[in-house]
Order: sequence, then structure tokens, then C-alpha cells
Amino acid sequence: MSVDSWVMHFDGYRAADEGRREALCALGNGAFATRGAAPESVADAVHYPGTYASGLFNRLASTVEGRVVHHESMVNLPNWLPLAFRPDGGAWLDLDQMQVLDYDLRLDVRQGVLTRRFRVVDRDGRRTAVAERRFVHMANPRLAALCQQITPENWSGKLEVRSGIDGLVVNGNVADERTLEGRHLRTVDCGEHGAEVIWLEAETTQSHVRVAQAVRTRVDMRGEEGPRLLQRGPDRVNHLYSITATTGTPVTVEKVVALSTSLDHAISAPLDAALAELRDAGDFDELLPAHVMAWSHLWGQCGIDVAADDPETSRALTLHGFHVLQTLSPHIADRDVGVPARGLHGEGYRGHVFWDELFVFPYLNLRKPDLTRALLLYRYRRLSAARRLARQEGRRGATYPWQSGSDGTEETPAEFYNPRSNRWMADNSRRERHVSLAVAYNIWQYYQVTADVRFLADHGAEMLIEIARYWADLASFDATDRRFHIRGVMGPDEFHDGYPDRPGMGIDDNAYTNVLVSWLLRRARDTYGILGDHHCGELWERLALTDDELGTWDDISRHLAIVFLADGVISQFAGYDQLAELDWDAYRRRYDNMQRLDLILEAEGDSPNRYKCSKQADALMLLYLFSSEELTDLLGHLGYTLDPATIPRAVDYYLSRSSNGSTLSRVAHSWVLARSDRQRSLGVFREALTSDIGDIQAGTTREGIHLGAMAGTVDLVQRCYTGIEARDDALWFNPRLPEGLGKLSFAVTYRGHWIDIELTTDRLLVSSRPCAAEPITLGLHGDLVALGAGKTAELMLRPPPDDPGRLRSSTPGRA
Ligand code: BGC
Repeated sequence: MSVDSWVMHFDGYRAADEGRREALCALGNGAFATRGAAPESVADAVHYPGTYASGLFNRLASTVEGRVVHHESMVNLPNWLPLAFRPDGGAWLDLDQMQVLDYDLRLDVRQGVLTRRFRVVDRDGRRTAVAERRFVHMANPRLAALCQQITPENWSGKLEVRSGIDGLVVNGNVADERTLEGRHLRTVDCGEHGAEVIWLEAETTQSHVRVAQAVRTRVDMRGEEGPRLLQRGPDRVNHLYSITATTGTPVTVEKVVALSTSLDHAISAPLDAALAELRDAGDFDELLPAHVMAWSHLWGQCGIDVAADDPETSRALTLHGFHVLQTLSPHIADRDVGVPARGLHGEGYRGHVFWDELFVFPYLNLRKPDLTRALLLYRYRRLSAARRLARQEGRRGATYPWQSGSDGTEETPAEFYNPRSNRWMADNSRRERHVSLAVAYNIWQYYQVTADVRFLADHGAEMLIEIARYWADLASFDATDRRFHIRGVMGPDEFHDGYPDRPGMGIDDNAYTNVLVSWLLRRARDTYGILGDHHCGELWERLALTDDELGTWDDISRHLAIVFLADGVISQFAGYDQLAELDWDAYRRRYDNMQRLDLILEAEGDSPNRYKCSKQADALMLLYLFSSEELTDLLGHLGYTLDPATIPRAVDYYLSRSSNGSTLSRVAHSWVLARSDRQRSLGVFREALTSDIGDIQAGTTREGIHLGAMAGTVDLVQRCYTGIEARDDALWFNPRLPEGLGKLSFAVTYRGHWIDIELTTDRLLVSSRPCAAEPITLGLHGDLVALGAGKTAELMLRPPPDDPGRLRSSTPGRA
């Protein structure tokens, strides 16, 4: 790959790389996305055309090792791409069977257009050049278009073109899940509408969501109009064209598709909606300008300009922003969707929603808070399911499921497949109750950035209070140490689902969980205070919130147990120090890639529960979520003193024991390193940038991009290296830009202001654009400064010697 920061370029056709390219070149608009698969391909060992609509799930039953399991998945919808040609009597286009002379694939992320150019020679020596473009319309959420120019280079004669919709698709993108049932759709009907349009309507088998696609194909036959035939099978519909082609003269074929589902607003029936949309739609080149304009507006709000030393960094960051915005575009603002961990780009994790929104929210909160509000509403609408889950555990309040799909039921499978041992392994990650803490954290951050009291009163407070109730109920008091303990959970480090002698039963006093619970109980009380002035008596009455309960929360927030190792470093959980050390060097010698140490150990008949190791260093996640000042305060509230000298020790300790088995871990690790060692942080940040581009998990990118890592890397530049924090009603800056990133410029929105930020290693400029909003408070290196609309604050920076223990240096500045 090469070229400028707006274009991803793939040179040459490589069958083995198709899966990764399809995911990286997927195009979407938040409503739906289509993988960058070759239109002439069908799902096989090389290709996987997939189209997914956000929030569209279906449940199936399968038999795994003799047991019936139920699984809900984001549904692979009928494939609207099929487009192929053949010269008279020849074979249909198939790059895997033909000689490919040259091949060039480019994704222009500024405009959201994917271009493919190639030349092929068929068995009979006929050479044909193809130039293809496609986009999924960012302004009109129901439209996409594909256009091909086919030029015979050394032949003339009949050219047949086949354009269709394939309803015979299954969910089969994830190799480990191919034994599961995958046919989520049944075709309702398909046919032709007028001269140019074919359509297909399908329905999901259990959730009964209707999906309609209408495709209009236009072939520029240069006056050589031939017959058009309809091919109609039970699950497929095609239009066939026959054209007289001449050497050197391009034939243009274009497909415009309208896709509508019964989840759409303001429609009567999906097929009617799709046909109506298509009737109004112009041709490819007529549709393109509005699409490009929508992208240019999005980039205006969500772009980051980095004058990095290497073009790779800027390009990867732009690509990451692009995929986040394609998944969570402005079109989700009024849709019921969560944050799918793998985007709308593949079927990894069955399209489920985890805690990854913790990594995704900050980027969007500061750019498009209407979207984060919509994502919080996805959680709010599932509050009763979260209450049900708590009740099933015999607890009060609400707890969100580790994996969530359509209705907020716990979707975590009971087992996952270990390809190293060919065994199914118990999956106890439903014990990762910390997902609710991520929801709470995001509610608070959204409120800090927007001061949206109405949201807090109408939705946020209820979630915060119910989540707080669950944790307060789970915490048990031990009279011996006069502390509250939280037992039997899993932290973000998924390698420990229990102690060696009680696997699967969870671990106790996970530091990440306990500190966040203390934080949550304080914020829930703050919320009560904030809303007290906003006439929320009815809310408190409905939730039956009493002073006694608030008092209990205060007590628990001060007395949760945090365990420390002998040298004062926070212990990941109670008993961590009793675990054995893993011989990392020996394992590194034996395994090229030991990110999934859990699978390696299981295949060896061993278990990570026995070792001091982690998939992601969850104790360090505390430093990802909280500045060291805030963490010091949080621990102080719990009656512990955070010795700043222990922070770099903790970072070294846990980083050297982490396998980076999750793409999220490098985001968090780079973040915490930014405080102690900026250049090392930059190195880890650059590794995080290759998560999908380099497919560093050896094959998972083809199952969808890693949305959390993509958003998290953009946010590293946005918040970590600028030190932006929205806290205590102020927007804080504490820049720590590593050498090599040059100059950063971008705009954020905060409490009604649009703020332009420009940062170099020696200067920070913060300018509010003229607007009617009230002045805001900036925290610049510890000084509070008011910033009115249309005003600029400037801070001269002299980089302090890296001091891991201090969050905020005392570098003199002026504002
Ligand atoms: C990570 C989780 C993450 C999930 C979905 C797992 O590999 O360990 O933290 O939520 O992937 O992205």
C-alpha cells in the first residue's frame, strides 16, 4: 500500500489477501455496509461478499457436539453486487481462473469511493480491461452504486453482461463458526419491475425483519441495443444483456441499488420504499456529488490533520476514522443501534456489542455527540433486559450483558472453538460485568462534554442509578478487614476466568472493577445532586431512591477493597501474586505469535488461570480512563495512597506480562506509556495502527475490522497526546506530543462551542469559533481560564523531562 493519506492502495491481485482487503475496503453509511468484494465473486475460500444492515439480527439454533445452542447474529443480507461479463462463448469473469495482467485497487477515503482497475486474458487469449467504481451513499442511507467500464482490448464481438441480486446467502464468514447454522433468510419473492429494475425481498427466519433490494442496471450499448433477458430462480434474479462490443470501445454498465428494511423509519413496506427510492435516484455520476459532499462535511467535523514524519501514520489514522464514521454515521442518530465490535464489515463476534464503546465514544463525543447520545439510547432501551439479567442473578438494579444484540439478552456463547486443539472451550466471559461500568462511564463523559441535563434526567440518571444498585448489591462487607469485596467477576483481562483451583468461577476484587465501582457510586450520588435542582422528584420516586441507599453507596464507595502487590503496585486482582510466572522467553521461542496465549495453553493441557499473564493489562486500564490526579483522588477516597513512583513500575510490570491478545490492549498501553515514555508510546501507537491494516491477529481482519482499536487510535491522537479531559465542568489540556507526530490540528465540539485545536511540541492554540454559547472553562496546565466564543487561548510549551508520576507538569504557560 502506498500513496497519499487519503488513499489506500493495493497493488496486484492476491487471492490469499482478498478477505483482508474486502474488510478494509468495505463501504458503508451507518445504515448498511457492503464488503469490498469483487462483484463477480461468490462466497468461497477466497471471497466473501457480505452486506449488513446496522441493528439487523436473527436467531438460529444449531447443534454443537450433540447439544442445541441458540445464537443471534448480524445477518448477511442478499448480495446486491453480482455483476459479471463474458465474451461470446467464453467463461464468465473469474480472476482466480484467468490470467490477470495488472490489478489495482484503491480506496479513496476522502470521497468514500472504491476503484478497481484490471486487465484479464481469458482461455482464448481475449484481453479485456475493466475500470470499476463504487460507493455506498453517505447522504442517502438507502442507496449504493457500482459502475464498470469494460473495454475489449484485442477482440470484438458479442459481450454478455449479467447483473443480479443473490438471495442465497448464508452467514459463513467466520471459519470457526461454519459448523453453525447460517441460513438466516428466506426469500419472499423476486422479480422484475419495469424495463430496468430487478428486485428481491427476503425475511429473516426468526426476527421476521423484511429486507428489500431493488437494482437498476443500465448498460450503455452505444446504439447496439440487444435483448435483455430476465433469469429468475427461487433465490436469485438476474438481468442478462447482450452487446456488440468493439476493440477499444468501452461499454459502461452501472448498477444502482436501493435497500430498505422493515426496521427503517417512515416507510410503509420495504419493497415499496426501495422501488420508490430507486425511481428518484439518478445515475452513478448524478448521485456521486451529494455523496462526496456528505463526506466532506463529515471530515470537516471529524477529521484529524497530523503532520507525521511518516505518511503511514496519517493514512492509517484517516482510514480508521473513515471506518468508524461508516459504521456510526449521522444516519444512526435516529436508529436503534449499538457499537458492533467488528463494524458492519464482517461477521466476527456475530456483530455483537461489547464494552468496546468505551474506546469508541471519546472520538465521537467530542465530534458528534448526537451519535453518542443515540448509542446511549441503545443501552437505555435495553435497561429492562439489564434489570432482568440482574434479577436472574438474584440482584437488584441492572447489569448489561457482556454481548448484546437485538434486545439486550445476554448473547455470550457458552463455548468457543480452539483451532489449535480442535476443542470447544468454556466461555465464561459473561462474568465480565464491567461492561455496565463502561456504559456508566460513557454516560458521564457524554454529560461532561455536552452538559445535556435533559438527557441525564430523562435517560442517563436511571441507567446510572440502576447500574449502581447492582454493584452495591454485589459488593459484600467483610467484618475482618472492614472492607467491601466484589467476588466472582472477570476483568477486561479475559485470560483469568477463575483461580487455578476454581476455573470459570471468576476472580475477586479485580482492581479495574472495584475502582470503577467506587467511581460510579460517587457519580451516581453526584447525579442525584445535579438533578436535584432540576425538579427530578418524580424520577427519584419512581426509582424509590432513598437517603439510606445514597448513604450505603457512599459507604461502599469509600471501603471497596483494592489489593496491592508487595512493592506497592496495584494487584490486578486478589491472589494475583500467588500465581506462577510464565516463562515468556521459552514461549516466544516456541510460538511466533502468542497473542492468544489462552488457546496455546489450553492446547497444551494448561490454563492461563495458573499464570501472571494477561490478554490486556486491565490494571493499567485505570490509567487509561483516569488521569493520575483523578486516580489518586479515587484511591484516596478509598483510603489508599497512590505513590506516583509505583505508576511506571506498574506499567513495566503489566506490560511485560501481557500478550496483547486484544487489539484494544495496544490502545490502552500506548495511552499509559504516553505519561512516562512518549517515544515508546508512539511505537505502541504505531503497532495499534497496524491492527487491521497489517492483520496482526493473523487472519481476523477478514471477519471484520476492529472498531474499538480504530476509534481508539484516533482518540489517542485526539485526547491522549493533547491531554484533553472533560472533567469537573472544564476542558483540560495537558499536551504530551511525541516527537514524530509533527503538528496536530482538528476541531472538537464542547458545550455548544466548536473549538479549533492546533498543537506542536512547543505551542498549543485553542480557538473557539464565533457562536452564541456561554464561555467555557479551560484547564491549561493546571490553570483555569475562561474562553469566550470567538476567542483564542495560547499556551507555550516547554516539554518537561518525562516524569511518569506527574500528570500535569508545572511548565510555565500563558493563556
Ligand atoms: C477482547 C474484548 C473485546 C472483544 C470484542 C475480545 O477479544 O478481549 O475486550 O470486547 O474482543 O472486540
